[in-house]
Amino acid sequence: MKVGIVGSGLVGSTAAYALVMRGIGREIVLVDLNEKRTRAEAADISHAVPFASQQRILAGQYDDLAGARVVILSAGVSQRPGETRMQLLTRNAAVFGQVVPNVLKFAPDAVLVVATNPVDVMTHMAARFAAALGVPSHRVIGSGTTLDTARFRSLLGDRVGVDPHHIHAYVLGEHGDSEVLTWSTAMVGGMRFADFARARGVALDEAMRAEIDSGVRRAAYVIIEGKGSTYYGIGSALARIVDAVLHDQRSILTVCTPAAEVCGVKDVTLSLPRIVGGCGVLEDVAIELDPQEEEALTRSAQLIREAIELIPVST
Ligand code: ADP
Repeated sequence: MKVGIVGSGLVGSTAAYALVMRGIGREIVLVDLNEKRTRAEAADISHAVPFASQQRILAGQYDDLAGARVVILSAGVSQRPGETRMQLLTRNAAVFGQVVPNVLKFAPDAVLVVATNPVDVMTHMAARFAAALGVPSHRVIGSGTTLDTARFRSLLGDRVGVDPHHIHAYVLGEHGDSEVLTWSTAMVGGMRFADFARARGVALDEAMRAEIDSGVRRAAYVIIEGKGSTYYGIGSALARIVDAVLHDQRSILTVCTPAAEVCGVKDVTLSLPRIVGGCGVLEDVAIELDPQEEEALTRSAQLIREAIELIPVST
């Protein structure tokens, strides 16, 4: 099973490393404008293979993506001094305008997994370019809030002393400042999280909620301040999504993909709990939110839609 990664910078190459460490896929092809760096990343990662499971890691060109079941899109340009967020977004949309058709030319049946930020808008753009080539939007997935959901579950698990794998809770909406931590959906061991915490004598007061909220929402800022960028967490989240697709796992993940309407906002891409399998997004899971969460999700959807509308249609 072949996995492609277009854009083998920090995020792309860390995703490749995470795939190797977890033994996901048989062949990983890295494609990037910077061929020298890509060859170096492929060689470095392939030296980890003897310590993991058997896999082939190659630096290649677009034609080497032929037969790939999944292609991660982590290509992007970084912000120039003085450049606005929208100017950066427009340049990154132009990158996808080249990358998406090139990928689909050689891997027409691949599921595309977008990682480039702002991931919701970039996924929307990727789906737009893919749609022009007849690819349905459910085959274009963004990592969305997969990582934020994992962070939320980890912090909740730490608080009550339970393995986060046994916590169910979702972060929805934008992968960014307006994301929505859905406390009302949090469950542990079949109990509502609030009841479970109370039964264990753990205070679930405003201060604790605010601390967890900030630990999730502000996580990337704190990491970027300390080391410049984030890649281990997102690389692992991407490997998890690829696993769900390659093995048709029907996992419920908070990925983003274009939706006709969310909370009254039309044609928008944001994260909701979705069943992810071999064809990409198989179905949305309609969870019930409390009125405040619903309002916050509406606001998040509106913000993403506003950003989408600012990108020139010609891009
Ligand atoms: P991140 O931290 O998001 O991974 P990087 O700058 O480390 O950011 O990686 C982005 C990668 O995307 C770089 O290696 C860059 O060469 C690559 N890239 C940019 N534009 C293109 C393009 N048009 N095609 C392929 N790769 C690209």
